[in-house]
Amino acid sequence: MAIPTATKPANLPARIQHYIGGTHVDSLDGDTFDVLDPVSNQPYLKAASGKPADIDAAVAAAKEAFETGPWPQMQNRERSRILNQIADVVETRGEELAAMECYDTGLPITQALGQARRAAENFRFFADLIVAQHDDAFKVPGRQANYVNRKPIGVAGLITPWNTPFMLESWKLAPALATGNTLVLKPAEFTPLSASLWPGIFEEAGVPAGVVNIVHGYGEEGFAGDSLVKHPDVPLLSFTGESGTGKLIFANAAPWLKGLSMELGGKSPAIVFADADLDAAIDATVFGVFSLNGERCTAGSRILVERSIYDEFVERYSAQADRVIVGLPEDPATEVGAIVHPEHYEKVMSYVEIGKQEARLTAGGGRPEEFPEGNFVRPTVFADVAPDARIFQDEIFGPVVAISPFDTDEEALELANNTKYGLAAYIWTNDLRRSHNFAQNVEAGMVWLNSNNVRDLRTPFGGVKASGLGHEGGYRSIDFYTDQQAVHINLGEVHNPVFGKAE
Ligand code: NAD
Repeated sequence: MAIPTATKPANLPARIQHYIGGTHVDSLDGDTFDVLDPVSNQPYLKAASGKPADIDAAVAAAKEAFETGPWPQMQNRERSRILNQIADVVETRGEELAAMECYDTGLPITQALGQARRAAENFRFFADLIVAQHDDAFKVPGRQANYVNRKPIGVAGLITPWNTPFMLESWKLAPALATGNTLVLKPAEFTPLSASLWPGIFEEAGVPAGVVNIVHGYGEEGFAGDSLVKHPDVPLLSFTGESGTGKLIFANAAPWLKGLSMELGGKSPAIVFADADLDAAIDATVFGVFSLNGERCTAGSRILVERSIYDEFVERYSAQADRVIVGLPEDPATEVGAIVHPEHYEKVMSYVEIGKQEARLTAGGGRPEEFPEGNFVRPTVFADVAPDARIFQDEIFGPVVAISPFDTDEEALELANNTKYGLAAYIWTNDLRRSHNFAQNVEAGMVWLNSNNVRDLRTPFGGVKASGLGHEGGYRSIDFYTDQQAVHINLGEVHNPVFGKAE
């Protein structure tokens, strides 16, 4: 059997450098790391491996651009124009971008194209938002007026994960830039390729040098991520990644009392009641965990099903999962591509084996026969999963789902809330009262009723419990990336309480 290989996209660079102060540079110590493509697991390029000295240089460039550059002082309309130009370039280069993302991450090409479109939308959204930006004023007639003076904070540190990397980077870059900050981005080390396109995009759109700086490399102590977190000239950090990493960053940022936004892991429930539209619920819950290769923070990876429809649901769901097309990421017919990296593939496969001990395997359970190499997993379904099972509790972050039955609404809620996470929840029922009651009580930052994960960019995004800290999205992002100074004006006589008045 022929070993499958992915087609290299056009313009694939041979190496990736940092981008500091408008210049492409190697690490100061010359160190690099290998980047693998997930179909062959062969290294296809070397990327610069950032260390504290590279972060120092990037932060210094961003600080200078903040203190001397035009960016923070620019009229909102002018920044908005540049953000729209970034969106234009991203749209124009969408196919090139998606081809690179697909090659580097193993995401199916159709889904990578969707993520590129979403990245452009993020810039357009914040371009519109800052033009419409207004701030509060508070009047005390005849005595006082107070208003809010909103200001960019300074150098923002942005740390991003490897799942949908380009789109997730745009989700932080757009609001950080819209509000007049300068920044240092540290992309995930598994997937630096699409981030290497940002400098060209920003230059074409007219972003001044030094406003955006990118340092590639690892996250751990002694490397780029950790030194960005601990840099004294970086007052705020927006992080997306695992809950464990989030906790560490929280502790490491504490001595400086930095502003933190944490978008962390999830193990989100999809709850299907017997009165739901079963066809729609099955379609949505299959897509909800197997799209983006299951490497999706809001994946509905635990499905709770009312007992009276449980057997039918499990049978139909497993049959549909079996029909999901696993294939080369570049093939437009592919629905599940290759897992991002061999290390993560091993983790997902280890959970498939754990699941076989803990529950009833009803679909998938291993590698597809036609892919003897590469990080391919068949969509895997486990039924009758007990709440204390590891596949019920742990975030697997791959195409693996756990299905469990429930008898009553109370039991469904108890099961839904029975993990340390609280990112999203999906509720399927046609009973209006039940759906809203459930939504009010489920421990999740975001809830969808009879819907897939379709997000309006104006809504708050964030998780509760171990899934995150703070909310971004819409005006919450503007709040996170700005200081809100209160200015108080006396409009009347000065009536100070007087201490120590002269005789
Ligand atoms: P990760 O936590 O391993 O890494 C994320 C980023 O943090 C990488 O850039 C990494 O280099 C860096 N990093 C690692 N250790 C660091 C440290 N000590 N200091 C500073 N930076 C450090 O996460 P991952 O495996 O890349 O991503 C998958 C995780 O991200 C999953 O848990 C997923 O649920 C989560 N995620 C959450 C959301 C959300 O919005 N809630 C969105 C996407 C992904």
